[in-house]
Amino acid sequence: MPHVITQSCCSDGSCVYACPVNCIHPSPDEPGFATAEMLFVDPDACVDCGACVSACPVGAIAPVTKLDESQRVFVELNAAFYPKREGKLPPTSKLAPVLEAPVVHRRPGGPLTVAIVGSGPAAMYAADELLTQDGVRVNVFERLPTPYGLVRAGVAPDHQATKRVTALFDRITRKRGFGFFLNVEVGTHVSHAELTAHHHAVLYAVGAPNDRRLDVEGMGRPGSGTATELVAWINGHPDFARLPVDLSGERVVVIGNGNVALDVARILTTDPEDLARTDVSDRALAALRQSSVREVVIAARRGPSASAFTLPELIGLTATHDVVLSADDHELVRQDLASESDPLTRNKLEVLSTLADAATPVARPRIRLAYQLTPLRLRGAQRVEGVDFAVTGTDEVRRLGAGLVLTSIGYRGKPIRDLPFDDDAAVVPNRGGRVLGAPGAYVAGWIKRGPTGFIGTNKSCAAETVRNLVGDYNAGLLADPSATPGHLDGLIRARQPDVVDAAGWQAIDAAELVRGGEDRPRDKFTEISDMLAAAATVPTPSVGRRLLAGLRR
Ligand code: NAP
Repeated sequence: MPHVITQSCCSDGSCVYACPVNCIHPSPDEPGFATAEMLFVDPDACVDCGACVSACPVGAIAPVTKLDESQRVFVELNAAFYPKREGKLPPTSKLAPVLEAPVVHRRPGGPLTVAIVGSGPAAMYAADELLTQDGVRVNVFERLPTPYGLVRAGVAPDHQATKRVTALFDRITRKRGFGFFLNVEVGTHVSHAELTAHHHAVLYAVGAPNDRRLDVEGMGRPGSGTATELVAWINGHPDFARLPVDLSGERVVVIGNGNVALDVARILTTDPEDLARTDVSDRALAALRQSSVREVVIAARRGPSASAFTLPELIGLTATHDVVLSADDHELVRQDLASESDPLTRNKLEVLSTLADAATPVARPRIRLAYQLTPLRLRGAQRVEGVDFAVTGTDEVRRLGAGLVLTSIGYRGKPIRDLPFDDDAAVVPNRGGRVLGAPGAYVAGWIKRGPTGFIGTNKSCAAETVRNLVGDYNAGLLADPSATPGHLDGLIRARQPDVVDAAGWQAIDAAELVRGGEDRPRDKFTEISDMLAAAATVPTPSVGRRLLAGLRR
């Protein structure tokens, strides 16, 4: 029986390179990879060896026999990616084309040293790629005392399988040559020029930290907010842990229908006792236990075939939640099905066509997907009472009452001091990760290509940047650091005595795991002071040892 890729596929492509018969596609070198919603195993070519299972960092692959009922739909979905053919294919021995590892040409002045700013997936994949080479040193700088960016603060707490990628990231932090400077803000505690003086290159993997804002009347009033802030609140991000979230109304409207909108709607309609077994923030859990929300409407401005959420996420949602469509929206799905030719979009429409009618009574909080609604204004004088939408392309106005309105219309990158910025695309202008007009500066992840794709998409994105960085180093284009080796640690500690290193992070991690007890994967600290107190249980090494470590690392 073949293996099958399921909902939590992160698309990092590790399985592709592990597969001995090249039966997982699209592979990172194939044209469809950038836009694929997940990867698929060819059931006819799979030899059932299980190599992909070991390689997958999020446990998304299983043999057919081990799938649970809700995952069985992925058997057909994997198979549907491949053209129908007669009989089983003989296994091929053709390995997927392996991306050339960036071979560093050593030079006498000392090892290649790279500063990486940010510690989310793109940063960690870049560090991993650099540290495939002996003698390379990587220092990762992160504003918070805890690493891993959106994996910690953006992935919904009920998606624990996705969060498992942190085990891979933890392994990278233990590689020789890796250093953490957590709780250090580049631009405040250390400048770009200082990083450049201490490293051959500075690679920014800072993501897209802002929300795209919806410019309609009423946004900003109490009762309005953004889905990404809500996700950060649910995840206990220290900047959002105390966000005032009012769940006293029966309806929440989410504007935009990407995967973030689905995450928010799912969390707001999940039984809080199920969430209590995750790493949801204690404060958010208390609020969710008091919630009066009965319906979350996800309102999209276009039609069903333009839905921004992905098919695996839709399948996962419908397996666990009541998801409904109005009669009008069912009609839109029928119309789209009649004209849609793209097979994967047709799959999405097929799932939508099976949803219950909104008129059917349901016993528990539900999610309603709504289409062709362009937001006009938020209603309510003191606080939000609902939204007025135009039926897209018409003058007809549809009015929806709501106690909370959240926009979920995407993330947006923000400018980095001392680097150029493309304000329209909200990215740092670059070619293959080389920042234009700033030699020695590189970008990877969302600040390089915009806020699209999945956690694993950052692996090939970071690999491209690292290949170009190493190419520049080998070509002699990157100047040796001008600062004395080993002095970086002293400089940072003088500016930020509360810097947290890898041992400090391990102490925070261990304390959170203990706090989680038997029932929860972890109980996160949401206050910086508590994180620092946990990190401080590791004695600070003496100046001499730090200097030595800095030189050796
Ligand atoms: P997204 O997928 O880009 O979706 C944005 C949504 O906002 C679209 O429905 C878009 O509609 C709508 N929108 C944009 N401007 C609007 C406007 N002015 N008025 C009304 N609607 C507007 O963004 P996202 O949900 O933030 O996700 C970001 C990325 O993270 C995606 O690649 C997503 O797949 C990924 N992600 C993945 C997961 C997962 O795999 N579980 C979870 C979360 C996020 P139009 O299409 O009409 O522009």
